[in-house]
Amino acid sequence: MEYVSTRGSQGASIDFEGATLAGLASDGGLYVPREWPRLTGTEIAAMRGLPYPELAARVMEPFVGDSLAPDRLRALCEEAYGRFAHAAVTPLVQLDERHWLLELFHGPTLAFKDVALQLLGLLFEEFLGRNGGKLTIVGATSGDTGSAAIDAVAGREGVEIFMLHPHGRISDVQRRQMTSVLAPNVHNIAIDGSFDDAQAFVKRMFGDPELTGRFHIGAVNSINWARLMAQVVYYFAAALQLGAPDRRVAFSVPTGNFGDVFAGYVAHRMGLPIEQLIVATNVNDILHRALSQGDYSAAAVTPTAAPSMDIQVSSNFERLLYDAGGRNAAALADQMRQFEASKATRLTNSQRESIAALFTSARAEPADMTAAMRWAREACGELIDPHSAIALHAARASDLSADVPIVTLATAHPAKFRDAVERATGQRPSLPARIGDLFAREERYAELPGDYAAVRDFIAARATPAR
Ligand SMILES: *Cc1c(COP(=O)(O)O)cnc(C)c1O
Repeated sequence: MEYVSTRGSQGASIDFEGATLAGLASDGGLYVPREWPRLTGTEIAAMRGLPYPELAARVMEPFVGDSLAPDRLRALCEEAYGRFAHAAVTPLVQLDERHWLLELFHGPTLAFKDVALQLLGLLFEEFLGRNGGKLTIVGATSGDTGSAAIDAVAGREGVEIFMLHPHGRISDVQRRQMTSVLAPNVHNIAIDGSFDDAQAFVKRMFGDPELTGRFHIGAVNSINWARLMAQVVYYFAAALQLGAPDRRVAFSVPTGNFGDVFAGYVAHRMGLPIEQLIVATNVNDILHRALSQGDYSAAAVTPTAAPSMDIQVSSNFERLLYDAGGRNAAALADQMRQFEASKATRLTNSQRESIAALFTSARAEPADMTAAMRWAREACGELIDPHSAIALHAARASDLSADVPIVTLATAHPAKFRDAVERATGQRPSLPARIGDLFAREERYAELPGDYAAVRDFIAARATPAR
């Protein structure tokens, strides 16, 4: 399988290993497979009842190509998904006769990002081990991504991670999930400043010759193709349980950076009969405006109870615009340059038509989110987190015909957002046993001033040169 950049010429391409280690393409675009692999109905039906790691290996095999032998891919899936606290890995829970909840939060850090990052950590180790290279991951976090990334690479050979967080501005649970990981390749840095300051430092590092000259600087955000690929699997898992390929299924997805719902689009392109993908947003509704009116324009971010959906720019939307525009990389590069310069662009009519054939969108107000949490608790006995509640609201407001089951993706464990869940339902979720001793664990992190040179020098003194 070859990968091309959404902004590049169709001529230049790299393989799966190259796309995994590169993250962003050098022309600023995102890597996508040159064509979508297609499965027949018979091939999909033959996947029914497989254990999750086996299903994962079969769904991902066409994307991995020659970069990994099939047995090796299967072994990595078994290792990654063996660390989940539920034997089904992503269990499907029934809410009522039509609504289902796909629980994606049984990984080590209680967020759906574990599903992809646990595998990504192993892929980094595997590929770096082949050529003896060393990767230095730098990142900034306001909470969830940092802990999932740290857990995924802790103790892995060839990888070091430096994770910046704003000192005193994340919750105790979020901080402890990162700072209590004591593996020597994990470096937590609390900086004196805001999340935006931390993120600006990280962006600057990618262009700083003092770092890029000596180190292979890498990223773990969701622009990495391997992360999206790993997320395609649970769409298959859920649809197969509900009768695919003989029955069509819809999904409602709490959306921020458009990675999770794009994985659903990939499953559809592979032949999984998906009736509709519902893009659920909170009041930070750039995607809802883009999908319903063609208006892709960024506004100021409003902080909400669902912080992972508080976004201005949805990086992976570029991948959908590329396909919807007939894979015209030059036209897309112009459209994205316009968006980057003026923070606004319009979708073309053909992009809108092509997208509307599969996608719809909904925006949830805070009161809609609260009502969905209450309904899940009172009618179904389920506690759900604010992100999942926004998608459940969108699913219940859907006008699809009643014979199509709708699966709502549950992206965080309710205990990660205990205060918001308690405010809405009156019940405080308890931390699962596997992280129940979080507050008794030793913590380790460096405190640095909000000064770029201080942070850069700290990293340069500790990272391992590229080779
Ligand atoms: C990251 C995240 C999301 C958004 O996922 P995207 O792939 O960025 O659209 C939703 N819910 C939770 C809990 C998350 O951590």
